[in-house]
Amino acid sequence: MPGNPNEIKLVNNAMANATRRKIMNFLADGDKSTEEIAGEVGKAMLDFHLNVLQQASLIELEGGNVKISEYGKNFLKDKAEKSAEKTADLSQAKPVEIVEVRQLLPCIADSSKFRVIANIAPPLGGTLKVFEPLFSRGRYSDRINALITQKGEVITTIYGNGKVTMTMIKSEGEAKEALENLRSAINEAIAKGISPAPKEKIRVEPMEIYKYLPQTNCGKCGEQGCYTFAIKLMSGEVTLDTCTPLKELENAISLEQLQVLTAYI
Ligand code: SF4
Repeated sequence: MPGNPNEIKLVNNAMANATRRKIMNFLADGDKSTEEIAGEVGKAMLDFHLNVLQQASLIELEGGNVKISEYGKNFLKDKAEKSAEKTADLSQAKPVEIVEVRQLLPCIADSSKFRVIANIAPPLGGTLKVFEPLFSRGRYSDRINALITQKGEVITTIYGNGKVTMTMIKSEGEAKEALENLRSAINEAIAKGISPAPKEKIRVEPMEIYKYLPQTNCGKCGEQGCYTFAIKLMSGEVTLDTCTPLKELENAISLEQLQVLTAYI
């Protein structure tokens, strides 16, 4: 059973992928054949996903049959309990207002777009993570206590202390509309007093990752080219850090987009 840091890393890596999470949820109903799983999540890379789950001790493979291990059952149970805690947390949240748009600066990489910094009050603090399912591309980060969402090119980050940042905004009007949509979505959920229903996350494809890579095929990451890098990033074999050109100023916005996209993998 996973216990040491390396084993926990394997579990985190296994569950960081939407297809593998879907497989685990599918198996929660009972043992399944690999054909049944392929019917649910598709055949693409199925062997790879099952291997990753098996290496993390979350499932057991017996011939063509797949079942959740005891550890996997406990893992899912623990997640369900944490989700119930989140629902309870929402009752403590208060309706929010946009109290301040503090700066409207051009984006570093694209001077035709704006970077917006606003404030919402009262801050959502520890209840912020409850709102993750409100956004089809929402991802809560414990590390920075922030909820990151993406719509088109616009990335919005809501921090627990009330600060809100938006990148790649085209105009002040678009910023105001986006902030108002954010305010009403949060307040609607608070008024209902229940945690929003989880949404199936939009699947990220390698081509979408590739779109934001420098596309120079320079090989500095040790891969044959950017598309190979994108595929390996999807499977967790490499991290964004290894593409050093992304650290250059001209790629700042692309890096920001990629950090959000990788959070959905
Ligand atoms: S280092 Fe970055 S730009 Fe260079 S090949 Fe790898 S992914 Fe592409």
